[in-house]
Amino acid sequence: ARRNVLITGCSSGIGLALAVKMAKDEQKRFKVYATMRNLAKKEPLEEAVGRRLGRTLEIKQLDVCDEQSIKTCVNSIPDRRIDVLVSNAGMGLIGPIECQTIDEMKTVMDTNFFGLVRLLKEILPDMKKRKSGHIVIISSVMGIQGILFNDVYAASKFAVEGFCESLAIQALKFKLQLSLIEPGPVVTEFERKVFEDGMKMDLSAADEETAEMFTNIYLKNYKQIFQSLGQSAEDVAEHTVKIILAENPPFRHQTNTLYTPMTTLKYADPNGDLPIDIFYKMVFHHDKIFSASLNFIKLLRWRSRKSFDLGKPSQ
Ligand code: NAD
Repeated sequence: ARRNVLITGCSSGIGLALAVKMAKDEQKRFKVYATMRNLAKKEPLEEAVGRRLGRTLEIKQLDVCDEQSIKTCVNSIPDRRIDVLVSNAGMGLIGPIECQTIDEMKTVMDTNFFGLVRLLKEILPDMKKRKSGHIVIISSVMGIQGILFNDVYAASKFAVEGFCESLAIQALKFKLQLSLIEPGPVVTEFERKVFEDGMKMDLSAADEETAEMFTNIYLKNYKQIFQSLGQSAEDVAEHTVKIILAENPPFRHQTNTLYTPMTTLKYADPNGDLPIDIFYKMVFHHDKIFSASLNFIKLLRWRSRKSFDLGKPSQ
């Protein structure tokens, strides 16, 4: 039977790519409810999905920061039946915390963390009743390992991961599945917006050394990291579909094998110093080594284009 899939944040990036990929599934296994906060931004999705619009895909309004909009959207779906929920909507924030307001930080937490909580408060009870459903969350490698000048963003994704780890135990009892998708850098609007905001940031509240570190080290390397390590939204969408179709979907799935060594550091040292040391050295002492490793990564990437295999999907 066709599975109803609700995806949040479909006006751009990973959400858009995933909605299109699932709507165009040759075996027509999905009915996609592609949602977005602002319906005025629906054109790129409409264009990409073409004649499938109204058949395998419908566009609906949903703001993850607005409980009523979630309720209205879910109520408009036949029998409120959502077999797969993809919590994708999110936003980034970079820079020294001295230069960010508490309100800006709260917006990030409200979108990335409470957005997921609001969705689940509305959708989880139905899934529990039916004893079926798959909750897929677009988290990040920054839900596992923090990175310089991403303090609040990483905190929001850690919150997501902690919440899901707790919920996963209960979900098992109700035969529900929960999967965290953890992309590394992805080249989307997100990356562009975050970078532009970083460039425009008023750094006057930070001391000189911090401001310099942000501008001349972090922002300088930012584009290079996305260019060498970055995946496309379509890549991440492909991984996500494989997880949705897997017979036994994993709780965690990293989409970028080039990034895995970084997150593995965390598990290699129970004291927690290893990843911090390595990131410190990469950022502050080994600019040349850093560039060299990026070049090496480019080479690896070129060689591993043939990508990944998660085994046989279920039919
Ligand atoms: P994106 O900016 O293209 O997409 C994010 C979408 O979320 C946008 O369409 C935006 O309008 C939407 N959104 C924001 N606030 C919303 C709200 N209140 N209600 C509904 N929608 C809202 O960027 P993306 O890279 O496709 O991001 C998708 C997800 O992937 C996010 O959760 C992000 O944290 C995660 N992610 C991104 C990267 C990356 O490098 N781009 C890496 C790891 C994880």
